[in-house]
Amino acid sequence: MKITSAEFVMSNSNVAKCPNEPLPEYAFIGRSNVGKSSLINMLMDQKHLAKTSGRPGKTQLINHFKINKNWFLVDLPGYGYARVSKKDKKVFQKYIREYFQKRKQLVCGFVLVDIRHEPQSVDMEFMEWLGTNAIPFAIVFTKADKLKPGAIDTYVSNYLKKLLEGVWEEAPPYFITSSSKHMGKDGVLGYIDSINKE
Ligand code: GDP
Repeated sequence: MKITSAEFVMSNSNVAKCPNEPLPEYAFIGRSNVGKSSLINMLMDQKHLAKTSGRPGKTQLINHFKINKNWFLVDLPGYGYARVSKKDKKVFQKYIREYFQKRKQLVCGFVLVDIRHEPQSVDMEFMEWLGTNAIPFAIVFTKADKLKPGAIDTYVSNYLKKLLEGVWEEAPPYFITSSSKHMGKDGVLGYIDSINKE
């Protein structure tokens, strides 16, 4: 897919106030600092569309971007960041969950996972929750430049194995990406394109 336009539409914390247009929607989510803003900027060929921040946990809203005038990319708040208070965490969790459960336009969630870290229970639990709520998702492994190619394969197969020890019968689709090496863009965009054309 060639990106011809990427426009910021709105930010909010209320699912009911998200854009009214019936366009297919793809949401990106992951732990704070996973590389989500960098990935979105890479996918969109822009430097500053999503705000990368040195301070994890800063982007705490649902951000809608209209892409090629025919689908929405949604940048969701990072989760699992220790410096956010318990009360705030609950609020995020509530509206993130509401978004996934109520947003009819949502076609697929992309759960980002930092390839340098051992499988984290917060990610595993979140994916399990998506699965039990029948919400389609794919995994995006980020920062693949940090591992040698052989180590990437081992990491990914161990990760999927661990995931399959849970409630899963088959592994979700997954993509290996590196924003700094511009890797994995065609895989993610091609996947979105293929679903949009169905
Ligand atoms: P976010 O909090 O999930 O939006 O993460 P950011 O995109 O702001 O990135 C968090 C940190 O990871 C920043 O220091 C980035 O420079 C770094 N980072 C993001 N993507 C990559 C990548 O593909 N490779 C490497 N090596 N570092 C990355």
